[in-house]
Amino acid sequence: MFSISLRADRLSKTYGAGLLSAGKCIFQNVSFEIRPGKTFGLMGPSGEGKSTLGRVIAGLEKPTAGTVYYNGSRLFELKKTEHTAFRRRVQIMFQDPTDAFNPAKKIGHSVSEVLELLRIPKVKHASKTEEMLIIAGLPEEVLSHYPSQLSGGQLQRLALARILLLDPEYIILDEPTSALDVSVQAQILHMLKKVQAERDTGYLLISHDESVVRFMSDSCGVLENGQLKLID
Ligand code: ADP
Ligand code: MG
Repeated sequence: MFSISLRADRLSKTYGAGLLSAGKCIFQNVSFEIRPGKTFGLMGPSGEGKSTLGRVIAGLEKPTAGTVYYNGSRLFELKKTEHTAFRRRVQIMFQDPTDAFNPAKKIGHSVSEVLELLRIPKVKHASKTEEMLIIAGLPEEVLSHYPSQLSGGQLQRLALARILLLDPEYIILDEPTSALDVSVQAQILHMLKKVQAERDTGYLLISHDESVVRFMSDSCGVLENGQLKLID
């Protein structure tokens, strides 16, 4: 059935299977759907496979069994150009924003690098940079700062603003606030909600924190003992 969504259909993942070993089953038969403008929350204790599931649905790893459907098409059967488009339209935001920026380069330099990578014409770099700073709620001065001179919250806002340059349809948010002080967690969650309302972005929100998932999600599930249990 065709639908505009990013959908996990009976996904299983086993690591280390070989001739002499059955391997380690991380999860089995996991199905859920992320729709535009909606959030699916994925909870569960640490080590239960949430990040692995996020990487599979983002196309960074193949499942052992099952299928990922991207807007109705099987992800691992997309043609090369379609797959390239997918890689742009489905983004991951990670837990630790300090990993998202090269510590040896000034913020302005990292931003220009991304704009070049996206083949945005030089004449538009200044306006795109400004747009990014407005989304992140940061002053122009940060461009001449190194990542270590910014707070975790500022860096995470900038990381999200940079992801938005790609105009993603879906974002996998892997513990997006877990590395941040409680005081700035809410700020990031509100920013994510605002972005979603404005752009109709679909989110997979991975978090071990039930209150975060409840606040953000339209539907959710718990990944535990290799099974996803949907919750209403
Ligand atoms: P979570 O995000 O819920 O904390 P992860 O997805 O990071 O869980 O990890 C789930 C399990 O998969 C862990 O036991 C981890 O050691 C194992 N794992 C993750 N990646 C690999 C890999 N590339 N090879 C083997 N085992 C892995
Ligand atoms: Mg994880």
